This record gives sequence, structure tokens and C-alpha cells, in this order.
Amino acid sequence: MMDDEELAKVVRDVVLSKLQEKQAQDALSASPEDTSPEGTIPRHTYAEAGNPPLIVAANWKMHMDKRSTTEFAQAFDPPARDDLGVVICPPYYLLSLLKDALGDKPVAVGAQNMHPEPKGPFTGELSPLMLADAGCSHVILGHSERRKNFGETSEKINPKVAAALGAGLAPILCVGETLDQREDGATMRVVTNQLTLSLNRISINEVRPLIIAYEPMWAIGTGRNATPEQAQEVHAHIREVLKQLYSYNVARDTRILYGGSVKPDNAGDLAIQPDVDGFLVGGASLKPDSFTEIIRNALRALEKDGSQG
Ligand code: PEP
Repeated sequence: MMDDEELAKVVRDVVLSKLQEKQAQDALSASPEDTSPEGTIPRHTYAEAGNPPLIVAANWKMHMDKRSTTEFAQAFDPPARDDLGVVICPPYYLLSLLKDALGDKPVAVGAQNMHPEPKGPFTGELSPLMLADAGCSHVILGHSERRKNFGETSEKINPKVAAALGAGLAPILCVGETLDQREDGATMRVVTNQLTLSLNRISINEVRPLIIAYEPMWAIGTGRNATPEQAQEVHAHIREVLKQLYSYNVARDTRILYGGSVKPDNAGDLAIQPDVDGFLVGGASLKPDSFTEIIRNALRALEKDGSQG
């Protein structure tokens, strides 16, 4: 376990190496579209061939079985639109079943964790290639339940993010503070450290498919969601960190999801925050009706707000 001073040093080193990498890249490509215009980063800009502007992902954790998964897939019918991405992350053993049961519905399937190696003597683990083979396009990495219960640190999550990107999977990288950290005023520092360490040695050319989920630990499964203002403040900070680590365009195009007690009745107010690009949903994603309502309420609120697209 690193103390605060060691951690600060590692973060400084990573930031420095990213800056050097960015400068070298800029000098090589000098791409005019990657220069940062004045003012704030516009929301929901469509990245060319990138992630859609609104992504709603389900984390089923260790819930559901073969029967309820089949029933879910039959009943679930989200709107098919280019500006919406829907992802469901079931337990490993339900991946192929869910993928098949969804047929051609506009829903991607993802895993909840992954080992970074492609194969080898790692009993009980699954590799990125196995996930891709099971039909996954996404993988949740660094969920706070894994950080808390399985000792996952950002240093351990880093090679997983790299391996997922290398295998063509979009990582949904989770970051977020504990209640004590929030009350100590440490939220931004914690999130900056988690991002910087988890993205160590991942270059600007590799990082594009990355999705980030801001999930304050005090809001997960507690029924107490972050207020729209609290979520917006941290999301804007995350975008600023991405700009420092990579570029204006990466910051603009990376989708930043909010997770923590999202429900149909709070989805609209959260979705219209300028830097909230969707949700990672636990409990309320287990029923097709409530998950669909979250998606519809977010779309409705964005359309009313006039900020989609
Ligand atoms: C989660 O576990 O990622 C989550 C956001 O859970 P919940 O929606 O139940 O708070």
C-alpha cells in the first residue's frame, strides 16, 4: 500500500510522461482539430466512429439466472437510435445466453471484470479474448465493489484497461470516492489519482473507446444518489483531467457515465447535466420496465432540454 507522498509522486510521474507523450504526438501530427478552442467543452458532440452521445449501461452484479435473463431479453425493447448506446453486463455465465436471447435488438453485452492476460494458468479468470468470443463489446473495470472486496487498486486495474483496449473491448472504467473522502474534501484528488494511475501508459491513439463511470461509493446500492450538481461537478473535473492527460478532443469525446442509485425518477435531471453522458445502473436495471424507463426519461429530458446531438 502506498502512502500519500508515494502516491503523489507516482501521479506526478504519470502526468509528466503523458505530457511528454502528448507533446511528441502534437509535434508529429499537428492536427488542427485537436487544438483546444476557447471556452467550455460542448456536450454530447458526436465523435466520428466513436461512442454514441448517450450510453446507458446495466450492471447486473451477481443477480439473475438463465430463466430471468431470457425473460428480460424477450421483454426488453429499447429505442433503436444512433445517438443511444445500451449495454448490459450480466454475470459471466449468462453472457452468451443474453447475447443470443437479445438477437438483433440494439443492445451490446459486456462483462463485469476481466483478467489482463490473453491466456494462461489463472484459475477462475476470463481473458479479454474469451469475453470477445462470448460476444462482449464492453467490460466494466475497477468497480468499487471489486476495489473494496477484492483488493483491486488502480495499479492493478491499469493493465486490464490496456488489455481490454488491445482486444477491441470498450472498458467502462469506474472511479469514485468514499463518503469519508467526500466529507474530507478529497473527491477531486481521489478521482484524479484513480484516473491517472488507471490510464498509465495508455496512449492517445489507444484511448478513444474508453468510457468512464463516476460512481461515488456512498451512492451505490444505498438509494442515495448524488445530486445533479454534485455529479456535474465531478464529471466536469474528469473531463478536465482527460484534457490534461490526453487532449481537448479526447476530453470532449469520452463518455462519462454517472452511477449510484439511478432510477426512473432521477434519470432526467441527471441526464441534462452538461457533462453527464449517461448512466451505469445497478438495482434498477434488473427489471426491463425500470431500465427502459430510465432510458426513456433520459432521452425525454435531453430532448426537452435541447442539448442532445
Ligand atoms: C453499480 O453497482 O454500478 C450501481 C450503480 O448500483 P446501483 O444503481 O444499485 O446504486
